[in-house]
Amino acid sequence: IVMIEKVCKSFGENHVLRDVSLTVRQGEVVVICGRSGSGKSTLLRCIDQLETIDGGTIRAAGHLMGFRERNGKRQPLRDAEIAVQQRDLGMVFQNFNLFPHISVIENITLAPVRILKRKRAEVREEARELLKRVGLPDKENAYPRQLSGGQQQRVAIARALAMKPKVMLFDEPTSALDPEMISEVLDVMTGLSEQGMTMIVVTHEMGFARAAADRVILMHDGGIVEEAAPEKFFGNPESEHTRLFLSKIL
Ligand code: ATP
Ligand code: MG
Repeated sequence: IVMIEKVCKSFGENHVLRDVSLTVRQGEVVVICGRSGSGKSTLLRCIDQLETIDGGTIRAAGHLMGFRERNGKRQPLRDAEIAVQQRDLGMVFQNFNLFPHISVIENITLAPVRILKRKRAEVREEARELLKRVGLPDKENAYPRQLSGGQQQRVAIARALAMKPKVMLFDEPTSALDPEMISEVLDVMTGLSEQGMTMIVVTHEMGFARAAADRVILMHDGGIVEEAAPEKFFGNPESEHTRLFLSKIL
């Protein structure tokens, strides 16, 4: 459902992604870790077309992301066309990025109503279901500032799910949270994976990686240096970089 082939991305002279290739099948959970600056966020942002790639190919949810192909030639898409592709990918950020001036339920229903032109009443019903699913059935009228970080992040997950994405991308969803709130967010994510959601998760929560990931990936200097099932990744990694990374984090 996601096929990344030889993707390159530079910011000036800084080669942030170097020939990154990765395939994620329907229903898989892939955890990406690696030290700061290794390119994890940039990779997620390229998948979601928040950055344009310099080379390679990204296919996700049936789209050739960022381009159209005609007679074997590629043309970049316009912003409105990219926005259509992005609907199928849900993105959750470290800092929640909720709209502060509208209520929880409005945060969740905004995009389905405005972008998908769906009926408000119907979307609100679904939003209430989503709030139950993330454990916040009584918060629909609250404003983001009235919620804890963990609650805000669960709203952000519900908001992404409201677009019925085919793939969910998470960029360090728990790293801005106080320790006692981390598990409530990870539990929601684990539930999602059990329900069959395809997920790419940048996180250093190795407990989550062990329990929920089908594969764990280590990025180092813009490349993937290890890709293995959790047992192997944690138990017997191939790369020296992985051993070093694990020795620092565990
Ligand atoms: P962290 O764990 O700190 O979040 P990361 O693995 O997510 O790190 P990236 O955010 O992908 O790392 O950044 C990789 C490199 O790309 C860094 O050297 C960063 O400075 C650079 N970079 C990222 N975004 C930009 C940008 N918009 N403009 C210029 N350089 C950027
Ligand atoms: Mg990052």
